[in-house]
Formats: sequence, structure tokens, C-alpha cells
Amino acid sequence: MAVTEPAPAAPTVAHEGTLRRQPSRETAARTYARSLPIVPVRARGLTIEGADGRRYLDCGSGAGALALGHNHPVVLEAIRKVLDSGAPLHVPDLATPVKDAFTTELFATLPRRFAENARVRFCGPAGSDAVEAALTLVRTATGRDTLLAFTGASHGTTAGALAASAGARDARVIRLPYPYDYRCPFGVGGDRGAELAARWTEDLLDDPRGAAPVPAGMILEPVQGEGGVIPAPDTWLRRMRELTAERSIPLIADEVQTGVGRTGAFWAVEHSGIVPDVMVLSKAIGGSLPLALIVYRADLDCWPPGTPAGTFRGNQLAMAAGAATLAYVRENGLAGRAAVLGARMLGQLQGLAATHRCVGDVRGRGLMIGVELVAPASGDPAPPDPALAAAVQRECLSRGLIVELGGRRSSVVRLLPPLTLTDEQAVAVLDRFADALAAAERAAQRRSGTDPCP
Ligand code: PMP
Repeated sequence: MAVTEPAPAAPTVAHEGTLRRQPSRETAARTYARSLPIVPVRARGLTIEGADGRRYLDCGSGAGALALGHNHPVVLEAIRKVLDSGAPLHVPDLATPVKDAFTTELFATLPRRFAENARVRFCGPAGSDAVEAALTLVRTATGRDTLLAFTGASHGTTAGALAASAGARDARVIRLPYPYDYRCPFGVGGDRGAELAARWTEDLLDDPRGAAPVPAGMILEPVQGEGGVIPAPDTWLRRMRELTAERSIPLIADEVQTGVGRTGAFWAVEHSGIVPDVMVLSKAIGGSLPLALIVYRADLDCWPPGTPAGTFRGNQLAMAAGAATLAYVRENGLAGRAAVLGARMLGQLQGLAATHRCVGDVRGRGLMIGVELVAPASGDPAPPDPALAAAVQRECLSRGLIVELGGRRSSVVRLLPPLTLTDEQAVAVLDRFADALAAAERAAQRRSGTDPCP
């Protein structure tokens, strides 16, 4: 599992031109490039190396897409093998040995009770494409239209996926409360908050005046990612499964971000033991290359041949890289490793909350970790502090650590390190993070005149 560090590249000033040209040629919608002004030229495992020769510990993992970090040897080898074999690189839907091997590996890792009677559909390459396919599937299978989705959800960028995501208004989507312990919509948190969130859903479904038409499906993330790393309690997930099963409403688990060991189980639904009707998979399943698919109960498979699912649904390199990744995670018990290491890191980060008032909450599951930053003001919980979160991200970068931001008000610093993270690397990540947090907090206190040691 040891990762070899790349040799440093010769420092160059050419990257300054690369950085300078970007804003005049690329869209104003760029996100990562604004907060991470680096020019990556080489990468291996946890480490990215910039053109200026600086090295960074990458806890963004390409928006959570790299289970094994950058350029893992088994991934590179799988890609090279396909390239050297002369196999076609792109063949939508056709049976190929590469796809056959990927599908076999995928079914071997899926929860047994789900895989026993499931079908897979390869979609266009993005998570959003697979979400669209899942929504079309349940709408076609049930003949219904309405969708149940949750506050804080993030399912992608295409019309249907966006409509299911938080912040969208769509007459076909009914928005339900997601159990967010720290900022409980019912003001109670804990088990009671989750119970009230479940009751809200039950009440809505059983309203005799038909406040909600019988829905085509329910879509949820077992751990909300972009929404701020919010793990759903297992009891709540089981209730959602019961409520939907009793009413023949297909349950779609969006595991685009939580899949492939990230949360400490191979699939996040395994923590609660629920068996969904549809699973949406992307990001890590392509082993760093674009791949997306849905897996679902065979009896939902009633759409006619030819239902569109995107041209690029036959990327052989992605399938080979994905199969190698799935196999490596399975054979090396990396989901279990993520659980142990993640719990340790969570504990250490929680220790920071005791000494930093700006740390409102530390939460996560496995190696999907979030630190919610708050303004030191009265109120329980204290208000989110997006400016401080951005400052922490900048301070992390200047210490050679890449972190993501998320959450409903961009006030959650997110850590998504590769599952291959070593103990030593975890210590380095936490040291740099603690240092960055202290520096950003001090600077904020100086600005507001509340610095205890000016
Ligand atoms: N579902 C979830 C849970 C996601 O986190 C994302 C992307 N962050 C998507 C769907 C959409 O994936 P993509 O960006 O590849 O379209």
C-alpha cells in the first residue's frame, strides 16, 4: 500500500503564464481554480506536484473521484493493458471482455441481496447522467411523475438532477427534511430530530387529502456530500426504506460520492443494512476516468430498448480502471481501513473543537469528513462562517494541503483523502489542518479586534 513519491520537477516560471491565461479564456464559473491557484503537473497517491515544484497533500481527491489517489499503479497498469491490447476504446452497449470483467467485479462488491436480482445500465459518463437515468427508470416503471427529495441534497447539474437538488424549485419534486443533527430543522437534533424528520415524511405520504400525489420514487444520499458531509442516521435510513417499501415507492440511493469504500463500508447503504431499489454510481467507480451507471431491481427494467442514456456509455479505459479500483479496494479491505482511520481522524479533529470556538461541528463517516466553521456569536448553533472556511482553505493551501469546501453556506471544510492514506500521511494532513485553522482564526480575531493575544 506504500505510495512512491514522485521526484520533484524542475521549477519553472512557465506555469505563471498558464495561470495568467486561464481567467481570460475560461468561464467565470470556474470554482476550484479560484481557490486552488496551482498548476498540477505530476501526481501520485495523496500527492500532487505543481509546476513550481511545490507538493500538496490532496484531500479533495478530484471531487471525491479517486478512491486510490492519483495514478495508482494498479489503475495505470489496467489502462495500459487495454491500450496495448488494441481493443476499441469506445463501444456503447456492446459486450466486451473489459466490460464483462468490470460488471463481474461490480456485482461481486454490491450488497448480496441487492446484486442477486439486479440489472446494470451504463449511462453517459457523469454522475448527473446516471441520476437522470434513475429518475427516468422509476418514472417509467411506476407511470408516476412526482419525486421525493431532501433538503441539502446535491444530485448533479442536468435538469432532473438539479431539480432533485437543494435550492431548486420544481413542481414535480417534494422537498423533505434531511436529518441534520447540528442544525436540526426541528431544533432538537439527535435521535429525536431524526425521528421527527421521518414522521414528517410519513405524514406527508399518508395525508388523506392527497397533499402529495403518490410519488415515482425517493432519492437520497446516505451521507450528504456537497450539502456539508451529513451522515444520515441508520435508523432514519431504515425508516425511509420501510416507508417507501410499504407504499411501493422505489428508493434511489445516490452513492455517487459515498461508494467504493469512502464511508467505511464498500457501499454506504451497508451501514444501515437497507436494500435500495436503485443505486446510482459514478466518481470512484471509474478509477479516475469518467464512468457512471445505475444498478436496479430487475423488475423495474421495463423501459423500451432505445431509451436514451448518452453516447459515451462504453468507455473501456474507465471500465478497466474501475474494475482494477473495485478489486483493489475489495482485496485490500480498504473500506475497513477507511472506517478505522476515519474514526481516528474524526476523534482528533473533534479535539480541535475543544480549543477553537470557530469549530462548530466535526462529523463524517469513514474518510468523508467535514468540519463546520461558525462565527463566535451567541446562538445555538452559532451562525455559519463561510469567510472563515475560505480563509482556512487558503491557509491549508499555503501549507501544502488541498481541502474542499461544501455545506449549505459553504462553511464546511471537507476532507476526502484517498483510501490508501497511510497513518503518517493522516498525521501530516491533520497537523497542517490544525495549523491552518489556528492561523485563519487568529487573522479573523485580529480583524474583529477579539484576538486574545494581539
Ligand atoms: N450525486 C452526488 C451525490 C454528487 O456528489 C454528485 C457530484 N458532486 C453528483 C451526483 C453529480 O455527479 P457529476 O458531477 O459527475 O455529474
